[in-house]
Amino acid sequence: MNLKISALDFVEEVKNGNISAEDFVSATIDRINQVDEKLHAFLQVNSKAIEQASQIDKKIKSGEKVGDCFGMPISIKDNICIKHSKTTCGSKMLEKFVAPYDATVISRLKKQDAIFVGKNNLDEFAMGLTTEFSAYGPSRNPWNTDYVPGGSSGGSAVSVSAFECIASLGSDTGGSVRNPASFCSSVGYKPTYGLLSRYGLISYANSIEQIGPITRTVKDTAFLLNILSGLDPNDNTTIDNQGQDYLSGIDSGIEGKKIGIVQEMMGEGADPEVVSATKDAVSKLERLGAICEEVSIEMVKYSVAAYYTITATEAGSNLARYDNLRYGYDFSVEGFEFNSYISKARTKFGPEVIRRMILGGFVPSAGHAGKYFLKALKVKSKLTKEIVSSFKKYDYLIAPTVPILPFKIGEKIDDPVALFLVDINTVASNLTGVPSISVPYSISKGLPIGIQLLANHGEDKSLLQAARALETTVKLPEVPI
Ligand code: GLN
Repeated sequence: MNLKISALDFVEEVKNGNISAEDFVSATIDRINQVDEKLHAFLQVNSKAIEQASQIDKKIKSGEKVGDCFGMPISIKDNICIKHSKTTCGSKMLEKFVAPYDATVISRLKKQDAIFVGKNNLDEFAMGLTTEFSAYGPSRNPWNTDYVPGGSSGGSAVSVSAFECIASLGSDTGGSVRNPASFCSSVGYKPTYGLLSRYGLISYANSIEQIGPITRTVKDTAFLLNILSGLDPNDNTTIDNQGQDYLSGIDSGIEGKKIGIVQEMMGEGADPEVVSATKDAVSKLERLGAICEEVSIEMVKYSVAAYYTITATEAGSNLARYDNLRYGYDFSVEGFEFNSYISKARTKFGPEVIRRMILGGFVPSAGHAGKYFLKALKVKSKLTKEIVSSFKKYDYLIAPTVPILPFKIGEKIDDPVALFLVDINTVASNLTGVPSISVPYSISKGLPIGIQLLANHGEDKSLLQAARALETTVKLPEVPI
């Protein structure tokens, strides 16, 4: 069974009767059993997946209407709720939590007959960018298992690039879909804020985060957006995209389009290999007829500081709900009074989450808010103005997704500030709400480099066309696993 096919090819193959959903899902589970001990992309595998796929084959055989996914195996980051299945957020705090309902993205995929093969590893509560902060141990990069796969949706990206599923859903608060997609050579998409419902995504910093697909191809991302996007009464930040078809016209090309190359995203600290790959991508886009020039977005310099101030504040408030009384892990209340129980119960969080909560208590507090939180909000609005006004001149912005190559597991784990700085190129689109995509571009020293494109609010369809144009210039070697 060829597990390397794209989502669109899978659909064609099943539709035409060349493969059955059951055989494909069963081969996928075999693959997980074969490689995941090394990669640790999954926290749980769905033991009913093969049976569920066989039900879809039965529907096909009997001529019943089948959903657009035709039994496609998809994996899900473990901070997105699937009814009656465990959703740990990579945390011991939620090791026993069973979701009582489906996230909207899940119910939409179920309606289209997707099969969930399992839940993916992540940095605890999606805080991190290496997947090393998972309470269940790190995931590993399939290109070289000594290296981090990126994060926080590391398990999702690993599972796609190591052929343990066809596509995955992650969440992107400051780069968590694009960063691991870049490090593992998958396509990672952060939609315009509000394009996808967050209902059933366990909140980290809800004012800026989005669920996003990780796929093998840009067309597969468009395919999933067609299923997932649009208004949801359960999330009043969702936007009406008028039923856009993201696949139609995706091969329109990039001729005559203007692209700004963001200088602040490839300056000091950027790896020369990554910078040269970006320049190379620019020259390929020029050959396809794009007009590219350097642009300066000055507020990018302050974006990481603003991002961590705002997200810690929201995290501090969101994570206050984990008192271990209504749900959580086994820990008896016997012998405690109310406050001491909650304090003790919350020691179950890992050190990175605790760091964010302490920061999140401090930066918005009386006497400090003006210096930190309110200032961060000013940076956010200035950055938004700068980026949105750049789109008067340019159709797209381009930069490396991550300014450096994947690094070794353990290399930066004790240096939180160094880790924060790796987010410099991804946080801008979260703070401003604009869509962005990471396209796998090249391999350097055996490790992947992704290129990021950004477009204005609501220009998701156009952004996918540009990403598709870039993708047509790329030919990557096989993942060595
Ligand atoms: N590295 C960033 C953080 O730790 C991004 C995480 C994310 O996008 N979920 O906040």
